[in-house]
Amino acid sequence: MYCGVLGSTGIKVSCLCFGTLTIGPLQAGLPINQGANLIRYAIDKGVNFLDTAELYGTYPYIRQACQGLNKEVIIATRSYAYTAQDMQDSVKKACRELGRAYIDVFLLHEMESASLIKGHWPAMEYLLKAKEAGLVRALGISTHTVAGVRAATLIPEIDIIHCLINLDGIGISDGTSKDMLAAIRQAALFNKGLYGMKALGGGHLISRSEEALSFVLHIPELASCAVGMQTKAEVDYNAAFFSRQKVPAVTLKQLKQQIKQQKRRLHIENWCTGCGRCVERCSAKALFVAGGQVKVNESLCRLCGYCGGVCPEFCLKII
Ligand code: SF4
Ligand code: SF4
Repeated sequence: MYCGVLGSTGIKVSCLCFGTLTIGPLQAGLPINQGANLIRYAIDKGVNFLDTAELYGTYPYIRQACQGLNKEVIIATRSYAYTAQDMQDSVKKACRELGRAYIDVFLLHEMESASLIKGHWPAMEYLLKAKEAGLVRALGISTHTVAGVRAATLIPEIDIIHCLINLDGIGISDGTSKDMLAAIRQAALFNKGLYGMKALGGGHLISRSEEALSFVLHIPELASCAVGMQTKAEVDYNAAFFSRQKVPAVTLKQLKQQIKQQKRRLHIENWCTGCGRCVERCSAKALFVAGGQVKVNESLCRLCGYCGGVCPEFCLKII
C-alpha cells in the first residue's frame, strides 16, 4: 500500500488509516476478539496506521490486534483534556491500555476554533513536555471545521492536523469542501502533517464510494485518510482501492453490494425523555427536540456517535 509522511515529523503512514470508532462501543460494539481480528486483517493487508480516541473505547481492540506483531504500527489518539493534569492522565491511560511506552500521535479532540485551542493550551503544553520526554512523538488537533485547520496552521508547536474532508463537505460545520481544501493546502505549506477523516461522510457517500474515496486519495497534502470499517468486505474494498490495485470486476461488484447494504443511521430509542443533553453535545447541530423527543436532521449528521456518550437513558446508537 502507498505510504505518506506526516509533515515534518518523519512518521510514515499507510494512505489508508483504520478509523476504529466504528468497531467500538459508540457504534457496532463488536466483541473485542472480533474487532481485534478485523484490525489485524487490515494490518495484514498493508495498513500500518490506526486512529482512535479516548472517547471511542477502542484501546483494548488495538492492544489485542497489535500483540505479537513484528512490524511497526502507528497509533494516533486524542482526548478532550483541558488541563495539564487531565492530559497527563490521558497520555498515561493511552500508554497503559494500549500496552505502549509511547504514543505516536496525540491530539486534542474536536478543536473547532482558535479560542478552543487557546482554552486547551495547558493540555497542549503538557503534550509538548511529553514529546520532549519521548512519551509522544507528535502532537496536534483534530477538527471538523475550516476555522480549526486555519488556527492550527498558525501555531508552530502543532505538528499534525486531523481534519474532516469529503467530496460533498458533509459534516464541515463552517464551510464547503472547497474551503477545507484551501485550508489544507495552506497548512501543508506550513509543514503540518495532515490526515483526513469522514471520507465517506459518515456513511452518506457509500453509494458513491469510488468517487468519494478517489477524491481524498488525490489530495496530495493528505498523508493518509481514516476510514471506519466494520467488516472484512469493507477492509478488502478499501485496501484494494487505496493500493490502487486492479480488483476483478466481479469481486468489486460483490464487495460494493455488501458495503452498500451496510448503510448506517442514528437510531433513537422511543424512551427518549427530550432532556436535550445530546442536542448540546452535537457540534454538527444535527439534533433538535420536537414533540418532547429528540429528532435528527440526517443531512447534517456525521454519524460520529458522540451524542450517544452523553445520553443518560442510552437512547442513541449508530446502527
Ligand atoms: S440525551 Fe438521550 S434522553 Fe436526552 S434528548 Fe438526547 S436522546 Fe433523549
Ligand atoms: S447527531 Fe450524534 S452522530 Fe450525528 S453528528 Fe451529532 S453527535 Fe454525531
